[in-house]
Amino acid sequence: MGEGKFLLELSSIQAKKDALDPKRVLSEDFKAIKGLKRQIESMEAMLEGEKELRASRMKSIAALEAEMGGKEQYLRQGETRLYESKGHSLRELLGIQQAIVAAEADLRAGEDTYLSLLNELEGMGKEREKTEAASKELKKTYNQKVRDFKLKKRDLELQIKALEAGEESIRKELSEKTLNLYDSVLKRVGQAPVATVWKQTCQGCHIGISDQQIRKIQFGERLYCCENCERILIMPE
Ligand SMILES: [Zn+2]
Repeated sequence: MGEGKFLLELSSIQAKKDALDPKRVLSEDFKAIKGLKRQIESMEAMLEGEKELRASRMKSIAALEAEMGGKEQYLRQGETRLYESKGHSLRELLGIQQAIVAAEADLRAGEDTYLSLLNELEGMGKEREKTEAASKELKKTYNQKVRDFKLKKRDLELQIKALEAGEESIRKELSEKTLNLYDSVLKRVGQAPVATVWKQTCQGCHIGISDQQIRKIQFGERLYCCENCERILIMPE
């Protein structure tokens, strides 16, 4: 038939194209980029949560400041009453003094809470700085990886384009009928659709072929496909 050589060439170009397929070649890079993106997103979410928590702590601190101001004033008033006491009975004076002691203890407790809130805020600030620095690093790595990925993809696509140009010129050597068969087998098999026969075995799936079919392939007027893997079978010249 004479078309065997061209079919084999076409099939071998297909195998080369498959080997260059960016989806396959770059799948690890793609996964790494997706992983980085997820990490960056989770850091952004963390920073967002921290921002809300910080705002609520600031509110608590402001409320506590106002409350302590009021308590301080109450304490001063009590002290004034105690120092300027005229005409109070001893019992009343003791009562004022006890109220002052209680107000002082209350104020100290408020101060403790205030200080611990400030400490917490400071700790949060340090954590935030760390997260922000890590997020910045990750973004840098991410951008670099995306750039590399695009370059690699373009390079693969250029190589595939060059192979396709070769493919076009070989297709011109084949009849329409043969091309239709080639294309339909390629679609079904999903990879290089032509196999040679070697030692009575299909070199696509390595399953033996009957004598009868070997004779058909050798002397037949048309192309035959492997009964097992469906590839077009060609006798090596
Ligand atoms: Zn086969």
